[in-house]
Amino acid sequence: MNVTTLPKPPRVGLVSLGCPKNLVDSERIMSKLRADGYDMSPDYAGADVVLVNTCGFLDSAKEESLEAIGEAIAENGRVVVTGCMGKEADVIRERFPDVLAITGAHQYEEVVAAVYEAAPPVPSPFVDLVPEAGLKLTPRHYSYLKISEGCNHRCAFCIIPHLRGDLMSRRPDAILREAEKLIAAGTKELLVISQDTSAYGVDIRHKAWPWKARNSEQGLEVRAHMTDLARELGKLGAWVRLHYVYPYPHVDNIMPLMAEGLVLPYLDIPFQHASPNVLRAMRRPANDAKVLQRIRSWREQVPDLAIRSSFVLGFPGETDEDVAYLLAWLEEAQLDRVGAFKFEPVEGAPATTMTDQVPDDIKQERFEAVMALSARISAEKLARKVGSTVDVLIDAVDTETGGATGRSKADAPDIDGEVHLRDAGGIQPGDIVQVRVEESDEHDLYGVPL
Ligand code: SF4
Repeated sequence: MNVTTLPKPPRVGLVSLGCPKNLVDSERIMSKLRADGYDMSPDYAGADVVLVNTCGFLDSAKEESLEAIGEAIAENGRVVVTGCMGKEADVIRERFPDVLAITGAHQYEEVVAAVYEAAPPVPSPFVDLVPEAGLKLTPRHYSYLKISEGCNHRCAFCIIPHLRGDLMSRRPDAILREAEKLIAAGTKELLVISQDTSAYGVDIRHKAWPWKARNSEQGLEVRAHMTDLARELGKLGAWVRLHYVYPYPHVDNIMPLMAEGLVLPYLDIPFQHASPNVLRAMRRPANDAKVLQRIRSWREQVPDLAIRSSFVLGFPGETDEDVAYLLAWLEEAQLDRVGAFKFEPVEGAPATTMTDQVPDDIKQERFEAVMALSARISAEKLARKVGSTVDVLIDAVDTETGGATGRSKADAPDIDGEVHLRDAGGIQPGDIVQVRVEESDEHDLYGVPL
């Protein structure tokens, strides 16, 4: 009889100081660690790492916290500090330079990441209720990767900052670790999402965290910055697609990563409009008059760059001239994919109570004009791909017809076009195959695997 010996889970010791709020934080952290397979240790000796959840309310509480850290260092040596004293990391480091990590109050993800680092969990298919990469609602071969929550802008039509608060970026090392797990579980394409990907890390001042940056000349750190994160994600070997990128100047630094093949030649930029008057009224970020010039320069560096965007028609105060400006801009910009929406008032958004609301029939006309123009541009651009060879990530196969459907590097799932394949026997979802393009229409390509 074969007997399987289960791996021994790492053990975490906990010292929780301070008020009941801190105790609740400790409970949450320990619940998460327990769910991830960790055991608790009742004493210092049996712990692989000790977590000290500190209180910094009064000087006496701070002193008590420092004493507790000192005791944990003396008794165990491997100590992670969290809680209110996380704000005074310098004081802690000065007295206890050997502390492994210091995080602030309510930073659950950071504490858990620090414990992972200090005592990595041991995955076991026999006891884990959730696969290592987490539960996924997308097919195995592509995954959304959320890098931040909330938004620092206050666009007049949007209530997201009201609902989700200001920008809160995740730690880059936690994002990269999640990406690694997803790839190990079969993900071939990472779709980076947030409300404003270009602003990633602004709230945490682009702080750097240790990361095992393979093949990196950057040293063993990764900054919480879109460019650095995109570069490190690109090294993990999956397709990396950037969504919700605002055209801030530093987006120019993504072009070399695309040219190197680390990031897909694709940008999802929610322009929402082109007319300076409307953009001003919308209070849009990165409202840059030179954006057409920048698109031209990006395409010189990355000739196959696909740009997708969305536009709102009928924003309060929008005139016929604004729409004419937008149509001329679109003709010039030659965007690859365009989604258009009619402005809808949302309760709580400033635009809802603006005067000069546009009547529905005019909104509809303007919407149709933008859709017709973008469909023509898309059809022309796709027609130019006939006869070329493109890489296609297969999403689905049809065993009855022997066909398959997938997406090229220019197509994000659900929002862009598809590539329909004939004679695709033996191909599986998640495969990346080379396809010769034979036909095209307004949105899709048709071809055969090589
Ligand atoms: S629409 Fe504006 S305010 Fe709303 S999430 Fe996007 S950038 Fe932020």
